[in-house]
Parts: sequence; C-alpha cells; structure tokens
Amino acid sequence: MFDISQIEQLEKIKTPFYYYDMNLLYRSVDLMAELSARYDIMVHYAIKANVDRRILSYISSKGIGADCVSGNEVKHAVSCGFDPSKIVYAGVGKTDDEIFESMEIGIGTFNCESLQEIYVLNEMGRTYGKTINISVRINPNIDAHTHRYVTTGLYENKFGISNHEFDSLIDLLHKCRNIRCTGLHFHIGSQITRVKDVFKLECQRVNEIVEEFERRGLQVNDIDLGGGLGVDYENPDDNDIPPFEEWFRTISENIRRKPGQTVHIEPGRCLVAQCGTLLTKVLFVKRGETKNFLILDAGMNDLIRPALYGAYHKIENLSAKERPYFPENQAYDIVGPVCESSDVWGAGRFLPLSVRGDLMAIRSAGAYGQVMASRYNMKDWAQTVYSDELEKAVLKKDYFENL
Ligand SMILES: *Cc1c(COP(=O)(O)O)cnc(C)c1O
Repeated sequence: MFDISQIEQLEKIKTPFYYYDMNLLYRSVDLMAELSARYDIMVHYAIKANVDRRILSYISSKGIGADCVSGNEVKHAVSCGFDPSKIVYAGVGKTDDEIFESMEIGIGTFNCESLQEIYVLNEMGRTYGKTINISVRINPNIDAHTHRYVTTGLYENKFGISNHEFDSLIDLLHKCRNIRCTGLHFHIGSQITRVKDVFKLECQRVNEIVEEFERRGLQVNDIDLGGGLGVDYENPDDNDIPPFEEWFRTISENIRRKPGQTVHIEPGRCLVAQCGTLLTKVLFVKRGETKNFLILDAGMNDLIRPALYGAYHKIENLSAKERPYFPENQAYDIVGPVCESSDVWGAGRFLPLSVRGDLMAIRSAGAYGQVMASRYNMKDWAQTVYSDELEKAVLKKDYFENL
C-alpha cells in the first residue's frame, strides 16, 4: 500500500489529507466491470460514496452507470462522463427542481419511493409532454444484519413502498399516462458482510415480489437489487478487494430472470472504501490520569463515520514503521481536535510508541469519508492526494465547489 519512498514524500504534505491509491481503485473497478459482463448484471456506482472527479471519470470510462440521490449528483455524474441513460436516481425527497433537471438531462430511470412522488412525476411529464421512465422502490422488509443506521429495507425505515400500498400502487400506475414503469428497485442496507445469507434472502424475496407484480399485470423489465456489499475495515490489507465475485455469483444463482429482464446492482462503498486513507499527524501526546491520548490534526469534520455510527477504522503509525524496533505497543485513546466528546478515532488502540509529528493512517476511508466532510469549527478542508500525483497535492479551498 504505502512504500517507504512514498512515506518520505507523504510526510512533507500538509495534513490532514485524503490519499487515494489509484492502482487499487483501477483493480477494483476493472474487476467489477469484468464481472458485470461475465454475469450480465448491470452496475450503477452509487456516487454518494465518493464523488471525486478522477475516481468517477475512471468508473464511467469502464461503461459502468451511476446511482444518484440528488439533482446535483445527477449533474455531476454527467459531467464526469456517465451516460445519462445509465443513470438511476433514487431518494425519498426529490425536489421539483431536481426532478425537472433530471428529466431534461434524460436520465435512465427515476427510482420512486412513494405514491405521491409517482403522481408528481406524472404531472411533470404531462406538463412538459414527456413520458418518464420509473422503477418503483419496494421495501422488502428484510433484515440486512447490519448497523441500525445503515439498514434500509425494514418496514420501519423511510425508504420504498410497502406491501399495504401495493393495490393503490397498481391502480395509480394504470392511471398515469406520462409514466412508463419498467421495473422494481430494492436496496436493503449497507456494509453487509454476510454476503451469501443476506443477498440470497434478498433474491428470494425479490423473486416473490416480482412474481406478484407480474400477476397483477405489471411488466417487470428491470430488477434492481441495490448496493450494500460490505468491506473489511479490520484487515484492509488482507481484503483490499471485497468479495465481488461471491456477490455476483450469489445473485446469479438466486435471482429468477426471464428473457428480456435485466438485473442491476448499485455498489457504492465496496468500490471505493479501501482505496482511500485519511492521513493525519500527531499534534500532541497527552498523559491522562488513567490513559494516554494521541491528539490528531484530523477530526470528525474530516471523517464523521466514527462519531456518527461508532464506525471502526484501522489506524496505523506510518512514521514508527521507519524507526528502530520499539519493544512494546502502547494503549492510546486516539482523538481529534474538534470540540465534541464524540470526536474519537478509537479508544484503547495499541500502537507503537508515538510522538508529536508522526504520520498516521486512518484506513478504509474512501467511502462516506470526504463526501461527508464539513468545515465544523471552521477547519480547512482536507486536501486530496492521488498516489500517482503526490507532487500535485492541492488544497481545495471549497471541496464541493472545486470537484
Ligand atoms: C447508498 C445507496 C447505495 C450504495 O450503498 P453501498 O452500501 O455504499 O453499496 C445503493 N443504492 C441506493 C439506493 C443507495 O441509497
């Protein structure tokens, strides 16, 4: 991942910064594109996981589509080379402007999440003389066995349409003249690690639901299974590429597809998480009453996942790797600089003796990292650094303005 010659260069760059391992990205995306062709499953990358222009441009160049959750994401995807017809747009709260702009761009499908949204889309289509392609997001009531903040496929979640509304849904679809419903959409959660069990169960539920809608007279051309494949946050080096093939195989073996039906998936996290690392330096070492603290210059403003969901990220001291052998690891509570008690990277982590100025790597930060950053406490944005352009590290004054 990081070789020694790189560490010398990395130590000179102003921290904190996001470092992207472009070779790992290329290997992950190439494998995903190859499996997509081999298993005949269409892939739409969920761009909300990471919207970096270089990353998106590479993914789009491999013929992969995009899954967007806002109008700005749709526009950004197009500007990064995604074919509009391969863009799907989900989200429970699309505004009129977002719907209008995406309709004008001519995206592939709106994944609709409520009856009222379908009604509004039909009105919009009628006003502008268009027929809008939609897919209906169904809530399959499946427990994805993941964190409660990232599970989305249970009736108690806000996403999708549940079975008590199926009669009204069919009625509505029959009445809407400016809507073409081409299929069904599902997405049950994120960071799913029980790949075979959970995705097999999802496919079985989806088979039943597809059959039910076909019985009710709906022609289902597109079956979109959503994203959710998890990554190994504990051992990023052993499992730098997630079990893509197991995922494709599980789907292929369990989804029932008739001629003319296309199966879609929407991976986000698993394509980009392991290629990103947040690099940060130790500002201070503080001896507490019972604990030792390492205070880093990166905080929850740069990467909010630990503070938001108690997420685990592996932390390494890169500078210590270059020093002579230190006999024992020390237990540290590793914290950020932000004025919130939840700004903690990890409690009781064992690391080599660490000193002010050491370069630390917060691993697996490529997904839901930089995109969730803020300037809370008026901190600067972290810079972006690509492994093949270390000399070009640029401070982006406003991360979202200069994508
Ligand atoms: C977030 C999201 C995804 C991607 O989820 P990952 O867990 O990152 O793979 C896919 N589809 C929809 C509709 C989403 O909201």
